[in-house]
Amino acid sequence: MQIERDPNTGTASTPSATPAPAPPVAPFDPQPVVDRGITLARRMYARLDPAGDDGLGRARVKVHGGSNSFFNRITRTVNIGAGEAVTKGETGRLELLETTVHELTHKWMDTRAGFGGLVYAGAPGRLSEGLSQVMAGAALVLEGDAAEQAHGWFLLDPRGKTAPMRSEFGRPTKYVPLSVTMDDVRASGFTMSDNGYVHVHSGVIQAAHLDIARALGMEEMARITTDAARTSLTQLTGFRAWADATLEAAERRHGAGSAQQRAVLDAWRAAKVLTDA
Ligand SMILES: [Zn+2]
Repeated sequence: MQIERDPNTGTASTPSATPAPAPPVAPFDPQPVVDRGITLARRMYARLDPAGDDGLGRARVKVHGGSNSFFNRITRTVNIGAGEAVTKGETGRLELLETTVHELTHKWMDTRAGFGGLVYAGAPGRLSEGLSQVMAGAALVLEGDAAEQAHGWFLLDPRGKTAPMRSEFGRPTKYVPLSVTMDDVRASGFTMSDNGYVHVHSGVIQAAHLDIARALGMEEMARITTDAARTSLTQLTGFRAWADATLEAAERRHGAGSAQQRAVLDAWRAAKVLTDA
């Protein structure tokens, strides 16, 4: 019998084991889902702000039928492509919620980072992508219902979505550890420029923040993140400077040498962003 292997996992499967096609999914109306994403983001950022201000301003969000979602740094408008999500049922609904908070978080973080926001290339661009995924997961966990909470924890965890194929270095959900360098990415033949590979290594930021959330709870992780952003984020903040900013936030909130600060340090060491030296 001929054996086929899944190119991602190497798992053997037999051609005859092809499952029956899934029943068709009824498309949903994207606008109420995007509106809920805006509500979850506003509620979370207000909850995490000392004055209860969500810090998102007017938050203009446009929904279109394509697949491209992005924050326009010139017009300050969020664009959400709902074309693919509406055909995927409940999974698509959760992805659309996640995408809405993700893009709004680009606006929230860029506003904290000063004029023009985080430079959308190189390390600040990768930090921007990582933080948007982190806070999208946090919003679903802190403000969502049970299904949304489960998706939030799943979203925050990049590990287990590893072993990137050469075409997947630019996928924000894939975990590319720091041991894989930009030269490795280029040498692999990965050609999508992606603003200087902004999605490569964003999973490293997610992994560290997930460790902090597991140790201290999602809300405390989110409070440390927003405190660090308000106090220390600049246009050129990279990974180490961000790790330092979260350590300083943990110290402001819990004291120098506290168990909480230790947990933050352990997370950055596990992600290989900070070393023992
Ligand atoms: Zn993004």
